[in-house]
Amino acid sequence: MLLIKNVSFNYNERSVLRAVSAVVKSGDCLAIVGESGSGKSTLLKLIFGQMDVDNGSISWKDQPILGPKNKLVVGHDFMKYVAQEFDLMPYTSVSENIGDHLSNFYPDKKKARVKELIEVVELEGFENTKIQFLSGGQKQRVALARAIARRPEIILLDEPFSHIDNFKKQSLRRNLFAYLKTNNIACVLATHDKDDVLSFADQMMVLHNGTVLVTDTPRDIYLNPRHSLVAAFFSEYSVIDGHYYYAHEINLIEDGLLKAVIKHNFYKGAFYLIEADLNGTVIRFTNANALKENSVVSLELSR
Ligand code: ADP
Ligand code: MG
Repeated sequence: MLLIKNVSFNYNERSVLRAVSAVVKSGDCLAIVGESGSGKSTLLKLIFGQMDVDNGSISWKDQPILGPKNKLVVGHDFMKYVAQEFDLMPYTSVSENIGDHLSNFYPDKKKARVKELIEVVELEGFENTKIQFLSGGQKQRVALARAIARRPEIILLDEPFSHIDNFKKQSLRRNLFAYLKTNNIACVLATHDKDDVLSFADQMMVLHNGTVLVTDTPRDIYLNPRHSLVAAFFSEYSVIDGHYYYAHEINLIEDGLLKAVIKHNFYKGAFYLIEADLNGTVIRFTNANALKENSVVSLELSR
């Protein structure tokens, strides 16, 4: 397993991570979420051994991960890292990039493996296209395929779907996480996207200004967010009597004690998000239909 123990890190005296700890079991996925600048990428770079920790330690299966001060060449066979700014070979083809680290000893085996990887990241038809002619999202998919090509024991993914459009994202994400689970590849994933976390992560860590706000299963954190930052990560929410309610947990009823004045309707496709005033507090809830502005409605809290 990956063991992150009490890690602290500074960029030129400026503290970026403080006392970060986590455990990731073989084949499990830890999602790291937090606002831009909260330290997600820095933590991934430390796990990869690209920089030295100032305090604490990181190890994989009892083998310490050493930074450049103690290890000349950055990188390991058991661990792959897909950085936010992925680096590929621009003048070579998709297939060559993906197969770059695979052995040439059994050409048929290599060919089959590259084909399988191309299917995982849905780049069929682009096998011979040179990287320089790909879009950002396509390049990101090549980088992912390249990272899993040699079945590492653990993979570090920094916002792996950030350049990929919504049309492709859903199926790519299902393919990739299914592939990681099937092959028992552990994963540490920095992300902004709740859909990565809720459906695919075993553990979730929320970073805020370089410290860990909470670590738990995504389900437990979702059900009891405790911080507005955490609630906002998942969904629109309102605070009523000190409790967090997601928009779908506030419902319209015929008559009741909780009265609100309708302010705005936002069309969301399957529902409307409705902004209302509840005794001077702005709340937001979902409803199948739009509601008349300035009308008074009764609400009920579920949960
Ligand atoms: P995230 O990935 O969560 O957006 P980062 O880990 O990239 O956050 O950055 C955390 C903090 O460290 C930010 O305040 C950022 O400005 C700072 N930082 C990142 N890289 C460097 C660097 N090379 N030198 C100095 N400060 C940096
Ligand atoms: Mg980052």
